[in-house]
Formats: sequence, C-alpha cells, structure tokens
Amino acid sequence: MISKLTSFSLTAILTSVLSVTAAEQKLPELGSSTSRTLSVAQEQAIGDEYILGVRRYLPLVHDPLAVDYINHLGFKLVEQNPDAQDRRFYFFIIQEPTLNAFALPGGYIGTHSGLIAAAESESELAAVMGHEIAHVTQRHLARRLERQQQLSFPALASFIGGIIVASQNPEAGIGMMATANAGMQQAMINHTRENEKEADRIGILAMSRAGFDPIAVAGFFEKMQQATRYLRRPPEFLMTHPVNQTRISDARARARQMPEARNPDSLEFHLIKTRLTNATNEQHLRAEYKSLKARFDDNQLNNEVEQYRLALLSSELEAHADAIAILRQLYLQRQRNLIYLVSLAEAYIAAQQPELALPFLKSELKTTPTSYPLIMTYARALIDSKQAEAARELLLEHAYAQNQEPQMFQLLSEAQSQSGYLHEVHESQGQYLFATGDLQGALAQFELALTRAKNDGYARTRMQAKIEQINQILRARRTRH
Ligand SMILES: [Zn+2]
Repeated sequence: MISKLTSFSLTAILTSVLSVTAAEQKLPELGSSTSRTLSVAQEQAIGDEYILGVRRYLPLVHDPLAVDYINHLGFKLVEQNPDAQDRRFYFFIIQEPTLNAFALPGGYIGTHSGLIAAAESESELAAVMGHEIAHVTQRHLARRLERQQQLSFPALASFIGGIIVASQNPEAGIGMMATANAGMQQAMINHTRENEKEADRIGILAMSRAGFDPIAVAGFFEKMQQATRYLRRPPEFLMTHPVNQTRISDARARARQMPEARNPDSLEFHLIKTRLTNATNEQHLRAEYKSLKARFDDNQLNNEVEQYRLALLSSELEAHADAIAILRQLYLQRQRNLIYLVSLAEAYIAAQQPELALPFLKSELKTTPTSYPLIMTYARALIDSKQAEAARELLLEHAYAQNQEPQMFQLLSEAQSQSGYLHEVHESQGQYLFATGDLQGALAQFELALTRAKNDGYARTRMQAKIEQINQILRARRTRH
C-alpha cells in the first residue's frame, strides 16, 4: 500500500502528522539536509512519539504478569547484547493472532500474542526477540530512517495517518491503524539482507549467552516456513524477515558452535502463554473447562500448566473455590513463583475475599518492592478491602518512575477517588491521558485539578507546570506547520 501513495498525498499526510500526534518539541526534522546522522537521542524522540500512537490505538495486553514477563525476558537478552549499553528498551505485547514481532525506533519492541502462542519453548520466543533487539542495537532502524527516507517517510505517515483518522472517527481509524501499522512495520523493517544476517548473528549469540537453546532459531524459522505452505499470505514476520534455506542452515551451523543450553525453557513462559490464550467463545471455554475438570477429578491432570489453565478457567466461570484450591496448591509447591502468587491473589479478589490476599502480597513486596504485578495486585486488593488510602500511598511511590506503565495512573486515580483525594483524581487521569497520547484530554484534566486544588499551593504549582508543558508542545506544533 505504501508504494501507491503519491508524493502529493504524502506531503499532505506528513504535514498533519506532526501537528496531531503528541510530538515532543525536540522531534528532529528528518528531511532536513543538516540531519544526516540520526543520534540515539533523536531516534529515541521518534520512538517516544510512535509509542504514544501504539498505546492509544493498538490492542495492547495490559495483564501485569504478561507485561512483566515480556520485559524480564527482553532484558535478559539485552544484558547479553554487548552493544546494548546505555540504550533504553521497552517491551510490549499486542493482542493479535498473527505471528509477528517488530522493533520501533528507540528500543520499543512489540510482540504479537500469536507469536507467543506459536512458540513451543521460551528459546523460540527468545530467538525472535534477540533478533529484534539486535536490529535496535546495530542501529538498523536509525540507518534506514537516515538513508532511506523515501521508504520510512510514507511508513511513518501512514502509521500516524491512522491516528489522525482515529481521532475523528475511532472505528475507521482503528481499522486504518491496523493496516497502516502493518505497512509501517513492513517498510520500516524490511531490512537489507546484510542487516538481517547481522541481526541473526548477534541475536543468536545473545540468546545463547542468556542460556537459551540456539538451535531454536533454525527450528522456529523452519516451523514458520512449514506453516506458510497452507496459507495464502505468509506470517508477517516472514514477510518482513524472509527466510530461505541458507538462512536456516546458517543458523543451524552457528548453533552447533555454541555451548549447550542451560535454560532452554521455563515454566513461566508456558504459564504466560496460557494466560494469553483466550477461549474463542463461551462454548469453547466451557468445553475446555469440562474436559480439564473431568481429568482433574480423576487425578489424571498431572501437568502443572494444565492445572493452572483449569484454575484460570474456573475463575472465569466463577467457580472461585475451585480456582483458589488449585492455585493454593500450586503456590505451596513453588512459593517463589510470582505467577502463582499473583494468580492466587487475583482469585481471592475475584471471589470477593481480597483481604485474604493481603498478607502474602505484602510479604512478597518486601522482597521485590518494584515488581509491577505485585504493586498492581496489592493495590487492587487494598482498594477492594476498603484500604484505598494505603493503595494510594503505594501507587504514588511508583507511578512516576521512568518507563512505568500508564495503567498505574488509572489505578491510582481510583484509589484517590475512594479515599477522598478528589483533586488528585484529575491529576492522575491527566497523567494517564498524557502518557497515552491524548494531550487535549490531559489538558482538560489538569485544568480541573487546578481549580479543585484551591488551597494546595504545591499542587497548584504542579498543575500549572504540567499545563504549561502541554501548551508548549501544542504551540510548537502550531508554529512548525
Ligand atoms: Zn529482522
């Protein structure tokens, strides 16, 4: 679709692009002849802009355990990539059945839930992610932005064009966003063969050093290729990263020279995979539940992941006592397993017994005080146990940390509302809208917060600064075009 854009429509789209999205003032002008070399900071500014559109219009997975998992896995690989020093990374999952993963400028790496579902081991997922991380660390995206502006510009334009339409007509916009996003990914990420080779080489090295099984690279490529035979359209990842026999053999030869995998797979990977698997409809959900439950009752359900699946389905079907019993058993077997611990807490919350989750959440939080799923689940349990003030304090401690999930501001605003801190509710809503790219909405919330904070000098100063910051961004956009 991108090649069909005429240069006229391109200019038109681009002109509106930067005036509509939440651009930071520092966003570089890609087309100017003076900016031949894109600095890391400039690349970051472009990425920061993209992610706002991603957050606003793509169906992201917000499950705190899944968000935490994909970031842990990502950073395990980043640590083993020698060129990743001083780079920022942020990993996210898109609820999308297709097989795809991609890197945006600035270290933002997205993985479709369909890719996680298709991976049979953590090594397979690590293979794809290690490859995408390498595209970032080797500056393949930045170089494309520099050298092949004719390709990246329409990509950027169509991507953000989707946002423009969406702001006026949400339904059409999201549809356009989906195609534009695919188009953008393809244009941005159709790397040269050399770049692909380099990403393969560095990605496989990083995953092997992190303890994963390097042979999974070749294995997963092959599996994708085989799956493709019956499809009219290959998986997106293969369209943007064409695989041929040479590439598979290269990967296999490289894997043979590497040490044996220490941790080829993990229980966490399979548990998260299960969490991301949604039953397609109520009927399927009940059928799956019935079959697992029958085996469980016959003492035939020995697989831990299947037991966990049964617990999740039980909770969903409001068989709360069953869910709690299974999860308590799983947690007792592995008390260091964060997924079991948080899932048990969630089951208590769903059963409207949130106070039973408080003691073990609190004690675990002492060991890992910055764990995102722990903070979110503990705060939720506190609010539901009528201790919203304590939840407010906890969330205030963490919501403003760098790279924090915007969802934390939403929960914070709920805690503030329940505990009577009304002017703070608007402030947190404003922060949430700001972080997800809705500047006008954020402005309205900060203005409300300002009027409500009549007698709080500090709060007024804070609101005024925030309003000024947004107005500055809006002014910069107006003068730029
Ligand atoms: Zn690639």
